[in-house]
Amino acid sequence: MRIVFLGPPGAGKGTQAETVSKEKNVPHISSGNLLREAVETGAEKGIKAQYFIEKGMLVPDELVVDIIRERILKNDCSNGFILDGFPRTLSQAKVLDEMLKKLGNKLDLVFYFAVSKESVVLRLSGRRICGVCGANYHIKFVPPVKDGVCDKCGGELYQRTDDKLDTVMERMRVYHEQTEDLIEYYKKNGILKEINSDTKIETITKNILDTIKCDSQKMSLINLGVV
Ligand code: AMP
Repeated sequence: MRIVFLGPPGAGKGTQAETVSKEKNVPHISSGNLLREAVETGAEKGIKAQYFIEKGMLVPDELVVDIIRERILKNDCSNGFILDGFPRTLSQAKVLDEMLKKLGNKLDLVFYFAVSKESVVLRLSGRRICGVCGANYHIKFVPPVKDGVCDKCGGELYQRTDDKLDTVMERMRVYHEQTEDLIEYYKKNGILKEINSDTKIETITKNILDTIKCDSQKMSLINLGVV
């Protein structure tokens, strides 16, 4: 099961990817997390990426494509993965198709998280991350039991610098300019499923899991020659 979660920043892709990845037992691959890890470890790619991330711009394709390629080739991806935040441009989408083709695979589904601009701003400005285990919170919607402290590991919560309002606006602009074209691309490929992301977290999860189930049943019937 090879899935892409597509949508603007703050659409809830990461939250859903974590839950669906556990449910379906496939890794959640977030290009943003991989890039931030590279920044933190001081890796050469991270040093180059940091400038773009902090400005809310897209990191050059060659940096992010290499990071994703390395990750997809790991053993735990042999049964599939959920890609969150990648691809973000048409050229990345085409590289991904090629990468998978070489491995004898292809994408099964692309979920497009449709969400209003107001929700995005509200979600991102209230988002807090645990500095130790990376768990996600929201000061209003998913607050920790104790202010500023992670429920899971006791780590300190922080706000990503690119979740500040100015940078959020730039990330939204970049999304409209560079990523929205992917909706048409995957629609033409016949694998795009639109999910209303302006609703409750549990409802979105259920819609995604139901769609996956339906699609796997359809694929089984196709493989059996029934359809
Ligand atoms: P995210 O955590 O997905 O919101 O990503 C945070 C930042 O990482 C983005 O604003 C970009 O600067 C960078 N980034 C993440 N994924 C990509 C990608 N596929 N292509 C280019 N830049 C990316």
